[in-house]
Amino acid sequence: MPTTNSPDPADTHIFSAVKTSLPPLSKDQAKGPEPDAGDPKKSTPTGALTLATLASKGPSTTAVHAGEARQKPGFSITDPIFASSTYTFPSTQSIIDFIEGKHPREEYGRYGNPGERVVEQKLAVLDGGEAAVLFSTGMAALVGLLMAHVNAGEEVVFFDECYHRSREFCRKHLTRFGVGFREVPTCDYAAMEAAITPRTKFIVSESPTNPHLSVVDIARFADIGKRRGVLSLIDATLCTPYNLQPLASGVDFVLHSATKYLGGHNDLLAGVVVGSQEKLDPVRHLRGIMGGVNSPHNAYLLERGLKTLALRMEQHNANGLAVARFLEGHPRVDRVLYPGLESHPYHSVATHTMRGFGGLVTFFLKAHSGPTFAAGSQLSSAPNNLADWRQTANVVDAVQIPRIGPSLGGVESLIEQPMVMSYWNYSPAERAAFRIPDNMIRLACGIEDSGDLIADLSQALDAI
Ligand code: PLP
Repeated sequence: MPTTNSPDPADTHIFSAVKTSLPPLSKDQAKGPEPDAGDPKKSTPTGALTLATLASKGPSTTAVHAGEARQKPGFSITDPIFASSTYTFPSTQSIIDFIEGKHPREEYGRYGNPGERVVEQKLAVLDGGEAAVLFSTGMAALVGLLMAHVNAGEEVVFFDECYHRSREFCRKHLTRFGVGFREVPTCDYAAMEAAITPRTKFIVSESPTNPHLSVVDIARFADIGKRRGVLSLIDATLCTPYNLQPLASGVDFVLHSATKYLGGHNDLLAGVVVGSQEKLDPVRHLRGIMGGVNSPHNAYLLERGLKTLALRMEQHNANGLAVARFLEGHPRVDRVLYPGLESHPYHSVATHTMRGFGGLVTFFLKAHSGPTFAAGSQLSSAPNNLADWRQTANVVDAVQIPRIGPSLGGVESLIEQPMVMSYWNYSPAERAAFRIPDNMIRLACGIEDSGDLIADLSQALDAI
């Protein structure tokens, strides 16, 4: 193990891994049944062409091949799962060579894993970034990024529709370390400019936001950061690199909860930050200390999920648009938020910047005349023409294809009533401040057939 005074081998390692894109295996480690299996010198790593060549390929080609060696251990077409917490050295000299950066390889699981390096390179290429750092969750990625870059006495400014746990981390925890936190209304660029002070280190937004689906003009947002000399971050979880490329518009970092579309199968937790090598070096270094790494098995699952990202996103996009159009025309629906609809306040920005609009659809129900359940003290009363919380819950309970659950981005559709799922313990006044009315439903369309999802919603809306 390196001492705190020695150069961090993990940093050296990823630097050369990204530059050369060689699979980070020593010849000894990679030895399969055949002598040259997995030998980086004899293989032609697709990854070696990553930045130069794959950048000009389509998103599906990139998703399938980026970051992967042409020949892998055992001549396997898939990458192995390196279920190893530590890595051994053949001699003392090899340790010294490694520390001096002569032989990129792994040392200890908290600093990196060969499978993780592959998926990081794939993620970096997909987002058009130099490097990526994988974390155990999206929240770990946000915490790791901010903790690596923000110091006591500095402050961060968020658009106020960012994921509520991200803002909670800043409001309740970063402030304990002397870091200031401000929120300004989402897409109010003048307010963002006005909130920036000489102490501001970071501006942060999501796009589209969750669950309001506001779409940020990324170039404008990035320009504020550049002009004012502050770092900018876009949480692009809802759009993915398939629908939007925030780095190309000039932001410093893009972050994803890879738990969602990137993994895509509701079977893993992961988070990633993508950006320049230089700005991610301290993030990787801190991750090695914090220990917020993901598991070798999850790295494998994420790599597998990413291969179908483009295909899945096409279906999520198609389903989101078809379902949103259906809902907008339904007499029980008061209004629909979906960036692909002409009625959406940010439709124009979305059509100019996004390839598609994703699978998340938020809609609000009108009241119906049937009986409702008695309201508890924590519940607010709905305006007359709008459904109350229980009428809304009845629709959620009546659908048969989407399962009821938090999260989004998997192949299975999920539905939820945010007031119940995420805001039940908040007062009506707090929910009003978060703009989470009782009649709001969030539907995360999976990749089922659009017609089936629409027929199911139709029967649920008609049933109550
Ligand atoms: N960012 C957004 C937009 C999210 O929706 C979420 C989770 O719902 C996160 C970040 C946090 O991701 P994770 O659950 O992987 O920690």
